[in-house]
Amino acid sequence: MPIVRVALDVPLPTLFDYTVDEAVVAGQRVIVPFRRREMVGVVMECVETTDVPLDRIKPVVQVLHDSAPLSANLLHLLRFCSDYYHYPIGPTVLSALPTRLRSDKPVTSKPAPHYRLTVSGAALDLAIFPKRKVVARRILEKLAEQPCNLAQLKLLSATAGAQLKMLMAEGWIEQCDASALSTASVEGEKISAHTLANAHLLTSEQQQAVDAVTQSAGFRCFLLHGITGSGKTEVYVHLMDYVLQRGGQVLLLVPEINLTPQLEGYFHSRFPDASLVSLHSGLSENERLNNWQQAQAGAAQIVLGTRLSVFTEMPALSLIIVDEEHDSSFKQQDGLRYSARDVAIFRASQSGVPIVLGSATPSLESYHNAQHGRYRLLRLTGRAQTDARLPKVDCININQTVMTDGISEKLLREVGLRIERGEQSLLFINRRGYAPVLMCTECGWLSDCKHCAGKMVLHLKDKRLRCHHCGYQLRLPNACPGCGHAELLPVGSGTQRVEGVLQARFPDARILRVDRDSTRNKRDWQRMREQIHANEVDILVGTQMLAKGHDFPALTLVGVLNPDSALYSSDFRASEKLFAQLMQVSGRAGRADKPGEVLIQTAFPDHPLFRCLQNHDFEGWAAMLLAERQMAGFPPFVFQAMLRAEGINEGEVYAYLTRARTVAIELKHPVEILGVVPASLARRANHIRAQLLIQAASRKVLQQFLRAWQPLLDELPAHKLHCSLDIDPLEF
Ligand SMILES: [Zn+2]
Ligand SMILES: [Zn+2]
Repeated sequence: MPIVRVALDVPLPTLFDYTVDEAVVAGQRVIVPFRRREMVGVVMECVETTDVPLDRIKPVVQVLHDSAPLSANLLHLLRFCSDYYHYPIGPTVLSALPTRLRSDKPVTSKPAPHYRLTVSGAALDLAIFPKRKVVARRILEKLAEQPCNLAQLKLLSATAGAQLKMLMAEGWIEQCDASALSTASVEGEKISAHTLANAHLLTSEQQQAVDAVTQSAGFRCFLLHGITGSGKTEVYVHLMDYVLQRGGQVLLLVPEINLTPQLEGYFHSRFPDASLVSLHSGLSENERLNNWQQAQAGAAQIVLGTRLSVFTEMPALSLIIVDEEHDSSFKQQDGLRYSARDVAIFRASQSGVPIVLGSATPSLESYHNAQHGRYRLLRLTGRAQTDARLPKVDCININQTVMTDGISEKLLREVGLRIERGEQSLLFINRRGYAPVLMCTECGWLSDCKHCAGKMVLHLKDKRLRCHHCGYQLRLPNACPGCGHAELLPVGSGTQRVEGVLQARFPDARILRVDRDSTRNKRDWQRMREQIHANEVDILVGTQMLAKGHDFPALTLVGVLNPDSALYSSDFRASEKLFAQLMQVSGRAGRADKPGEVLIQTAFPDHPLFRCLQNHDFEGWAAMLLAERQMAGFPPFVFQAMLRAEGINEGEVYAYLTRARTVAIELKHPVEILGVVPASLARRANHIRAQLLIQAASRKVLQQFLRAWQPLLDELPAHKLHCSLDIDPLEF
């Protein structure tokens, strides 16, 4: 009887053998008995013999036929990931699938219902429709063109759902048969040649970049380094157009930033009759399954997605684009700790297709590879709109100026000028809450979290102290818990405090705070963006959420409030990240016809980071950082793996890592084994955290070592410890 080897979502580095009495192919999903329950697994191979005694092999309970089998290519990619990241094969394979495919409930995927105008809806005269009902009007206009599903309508506005209900209650809109519609449109799209809307004339640099990629045969990795506003997106659009004309599929990876719906809307508008699906955490399980299956069937020509979409099945994949390739959200921080950018590069080489990594501030890893010819460097040095100028960047020395609760007088004056001119300002501060710590001026008490090594952040709005690491919170004490002194002093600034200063100074200004606290609800951020675009906001206060994303046309001033901690951080990547962040946030200023200005408050105005920023000199900055990294022996000049351990008992955590270190040394591989040290947050939610770093001169040497080390790690007693191996770690 044939035997199948099945990947299951259990933390064991092996496949499991079962007999099966029907024809099965690799990639098919099956339900199998495991211990005392049944689980969904994926057949990785079909074999004739096995080492397991036949009487111990159980039969497959059911072969699932409700979804097409995974391709050999995808299985190969997943095996590579399991191997490279030293993570068990079963959880690797299962975590790459949409949640619905991991469950044993049949996935007869019902397409989302569509909506169309009723006879009375079609008869409405929009010319006399109330002007203030903007969203309702847009929905009616859209449906007059063609029936749409809810996701498509939500591209018009965040409130489309509620408006749709209202319009249905009026009898102007009705649901219609979605299955007939969607297959018809999918087939229609396959045969109809698509059009590219609003094609811009490319600059010669953009054209050269497009030509370089389209003329390359097979796999090639390109680094598209373009300053903000240089029109990287236009290069993407032309490349996508080229691929679509030839019947290929494009995978476009973007960072996790809650902006995928906007990007989706944008690419829809550029390719109005191409089929585009998105894959990101904001989708429902059914939407995700539906979109994945459309990609798998080849019906979706463009897949736009965050990190996880790198594992989307795409039979006609012809081009991969990774936008903002330096963004750390491409790295998964738990489970399979993969870098979607690096997996995408492997996938491109496996599929023999070109890949384009785009950024205004490439990661040093990619930049280094481009300098050494492993990637081909394509540069966009001019702004696409010739009248747009790069913003002017200046530093304000905080030691030589008057400060009000963390904001300098000069910056406040500039904000005031912008309000008078009807322009927007953005104050960027990478801390939410009111103040990062509360202190007693009498006894020196600090608001430590009792469960973590970090401080509790003061949230004055709801009068609470909150730990951002473990979520523990307390009511704001009336007096010092240490000595009873009545006066407690907030130290440092967060977004809420900055908002307060601005409110006091500009009582009539419309101030909008954008951070994780003010955008808890998924729709909030989208609504805020609409406000910003409609110029209903004078001053924006926000965290890095505001640094990313699209241009705000009326924004002409960016103030950066406290960047200094990253300059001398123990994390060697902190200054690289800060530079990228400041370049990005500076790029928000003055993108249209108005010149922009960036003011940075710092105690170190002569720091090379700010000098390079003033000159918009990424190359100079990168050269300096690379020289430093080479001297210090940091990536990209070495390759790293981090073993982390966490547990309640400090002794057990350190004993485990020390033993792991001892067996590593005994292997006598040519790798550098550092000491066991506390993690940067040494205690979180009452768990002690420590780590052990391994470095090697090449990936190959590192992988050889890890292959020898990992089986030994599996044998170490690690009861009650949470241990993980992180290859190419980004966090320390
Ligand atoms: Zn005190
Ligand atoms: Zn805590």
